[in-house]
Amino acid sequence: MGRINLEELAKRNIIVFLDYYNITTESGEPLDFFNHPYLVDIFLDFSPKQVWLKAAQLGLSTTAILKTFFIVAKMGLDVIYSMPAASDLDDFVGGKLNRIVNMNERLRKLIGGTDNIKRKQIENGVVYFRGTMTERAAISVSADLYVCDEMDRSDLKVVEQYKSRLNHSKFEWEWYFSNPKIMNAGVHKKWQISTQNHWFVKCSHCGKWQYMSFPDSFHEADPSDKLDFDRYICKHCGKTISSNEIRNGKWIKKHKEAKFSGYWMPLWINPLKSAKDILEDYRNKPSDYFANFVCGLPAKDEGGEISENLIYQNCNNIKQEREGRVIIGCDSGITKHYTVGDSNGIFEYGKTTRMSDVENFLLKYPNSLLVMDAMPDITAPRELANKYPSRVFLCFYTGTSNNTELIKWNSKDHRVNADRSGLFQILVDELNAGSIIFENVAEYWADYVKHFNSTYRITEKNNRGMDVIKWECADGMDHWLHSLIYWRIGMDKNTVQAKILTNKRKVRTSPTIKQSLLNRIK
Ligand SMILES: [Zn+2]
Repeated sequence: MGRINLEELAKRNIIVFLDYYNITTESGEPLDFFNHPYLVDIFLDFSPKQVWLKAAQLGLSTTAILKTFFIVAKMGLDVIYSMPAASDLDDFVGGKLNRIVNMNERLRKLIGGTDNIKRKQIENGVVYFRGTMTERAAISVSADLYVCDEMDRSDLKVVEQYKSRLNHSKFEWEWYFSNPKIMNAGVHKKWQISTQNHWFVKCSHCGKWQYMSFPDSFHEADPSDKLDFDRYICKHCGKTISSNEIRNGKWIKKHKEAKFSGYWMPLWINPLKSAKDILEDYRNKPSDYFANFVCGLPAKDEGGEISENLIYQNCNNIKQEREGRVIIGCDSGITKHYTVGDSNGIFEYGKTTRMSDVENFLLKYPNSLLVMDAMPDITAPRELANKYPSRVFLCFYTGTSNNTELIKWNSKDHRVNADRSGLFQILVDELNAGSIIFENVAEYWADYVKHFNSTYRITEKNNRGMDVIKWECADGMDHWLHSLIYWRIGMDKNTVQAKILTNKRKVRTSPTIKQSLLNRIK
């Protein structure tokens, strides 16, 4: 039997590598797997596609740095490693990464040639560090691995550009790490197509394996009981879960076959964090902070979430009377996506490449109204508007203004201006309130809902430091969503009362809402 050559094994196995070379953190502390047992499998996982949905304070930045170093040295990969902004890179590379390297002779030896904030040569591979906010043009280098750190604070359009730099690689590895911020977008969206590993612990009282979640795994001390204390509890028998039980946990996949290897890492998988620590954060921190940085989950963005459920929860297979003017909303382009409905709800949708199919609705429903965008080619929409005066309007989105008017009709020009963010919000609020009915069984809407799964709301500071709300689509699959917005704009012209929609303060009495209230009373 030959002797095991640890030096050789350290080239192949990262845990042996870390141990053999006594790799430490930036402050010279040895890596502590006793108190971070969940990190072992995270280190060992070199799946090409990875996603981490993570809380803060779990030692994951160090893990990301060391994993990247190891795999570049081992396989000679070229890597693009992005952080949200250039200033993040200064902290991350100039601060953390360089300090870890300085502490560890072995890592120093791996670096050769170029070594600066934007580029490090590690053995036969190169890591390019880049921001997503300030880069004017995505870099032209190609890469084998794209590491997207702090994805949910990054510009997701630039993230897509970096990802496209993998197209010529035989590897095409993608790793996404983030405190999740946005429901159904960013890292939370990748999580949904992942193995969804949860840290399972075994209750020593009833023997049941379970993953811990908030608030089900928590017991808050009863102030009137002096012997009671904040603690973790078993979801099944209610008895105490100890830090040792958390330490002896293991990762369990929810989906065995999934594109991404995914881990959900709430703060309580760290056995050093007590239930009291977590409950104190719950009581003292803002709710979105608690969700993102403690639970490792996107905050429930009340009214800011667009998903297929928004449509499904409003499906109703009862045939409605047709009432009022039929409105057709159409997102034009080579393929035209349309939504058709009236005061009693939406009853048809579809797509076509022929403008004549859209025109047929104007013929089929006398006095109907068509609202469509004028992009990318205004010629055909304008012809239709001239042919059906006062029945076809070309919609132009305007930015958020301080003007209270969300919709401005101009019959002479067949034109309607609409405040894009304001209309998104009204639509989402009305769908949440159950004010718009989608007639037919849920299966009928299966294609339609696909265009409601990648749009999300963000708040940005403008150049005057004011908060500006924006709705963005991650992948361009939002045509039916826009056609529904055009329908909603058209509803503004439906009745005299509908005019109320153009006044933000009175929007709650818009006709569709009133109709749904009436329906409930009936
Ligand atoms: Zn139990």
